[in-house]
Order: sequence, then structure tokens, then C-alpha cells
Amino acid sequence: MYDLEPWKAPRPAATPAVDAPATPAAPTETPAPPAAAATPPAGVRLHFRDDYDREHGLKDGQPGDCFYVPCGAFKSPTNEIPPGCPNWDNCDGRHLYVICPDGRWWNVDGRAGNCSMKDDRQHRCWIRTGSPEDGTLSVGKAGPTCAAGAGSIDTGTYHGMLTAGAFNP
Ligand SMILES: [Zn+2]
Ligand SMILES: [Zn+2]
Repeated sequence: MYDLEPWKAPRPAATPAVDAPATPAAPTETPAPPAAAATPPAGVRLHFRDDYDREHGLKDGQPGDCFYVPCGAFKSPTNEIPPGCPNWDNCDGRHLYVICPDGRWWNVDGRAGNCSMKDDRQHRCWIRTGSPEDGTLSVGKAGPTCAAGAGSIDTGTYHGMLTAGAFNP
């Protein structure tokens, strides 16, 4: 028998302290959490405002704000409301506007750019149901309407629906 040569003796196993939790080493690269932008935010909700001023516009307009504008107010370079409605013969004299999630103003009661009945002055390209005042407004095609779209709004940088007082997406 002979003693193990010290330099050949197996090194004692590095035993972890008894209380050391057997946690795996932290990975050097953690997978990125899903980007918040990948999940559509909860739909921008409507907020009715009655402080639109034809001379000064709307102060601090935010997405979701909705308000009435005298129809034709944007048509006159002199900022006077021309008589009648530029779009319809059966207009009550004001158009509902909604600020879309991208910040652009949507003339809900106006004529859609892709209206398929440009000479007709009776229908609406977007049909409103519910009420903007109490936040129940929906916009669709249920009523006398044209073939433009499906009631959605496409501003060029936002495309969605307004349903039950909220934009979707
Ligand atoms: Zn009008
Ligand atoms: Zn139309």
C-alpha cells in the first residue's frame, strides 16, 4: 500500500454550503420581454368636450376628445360659417369631430374621402349610434349609407373602429 501522492490526490469536490440554494446561474442574456407596443393599448376612450371654439379651435386636444363643430367651419377662408352644409341637405348644422389615437381629427359627420355616392346629399358615410355625450358612441354603417369602408376610420396613420365609446384597436 502506498499513500496517494499529494499532487495526484483528487481535489475535494467543491461542495456548496448546505444552505446555498441550488439556483442556476443567471443567464447572461435574458430574453427581452414582449415589447409593450406589441400589445395594443386599451382602446382610447371618448371624452366629450363642449369647449370647442370656432375662433380658437380646441385647446389641448387629446386623442379621444370629441366635440361639435359648426358644419362648414373649415371651408371658409374668412372663418365665417357659409350657409348650408358642404356635405348634406339634411344636416343639423354641426358635425361631430373625434380626435383619433394618432391625433388626427375625424369629421365623423363629414363625407368620407372614398364615398361611393359623391353626388348624394342625404346619406352618411359613417352612421352614428349611441351618444358622444355619455360615451356610448359607436360608428358603423347601420343606416342610409354608401359603400365606403365598413364604418372604420383610416387617417393614413391610424385605422380602426369606434365602438361603444372606444377606439378599437
Ligand atoms: Zn353639415
Ligand atoms: Zn358616402
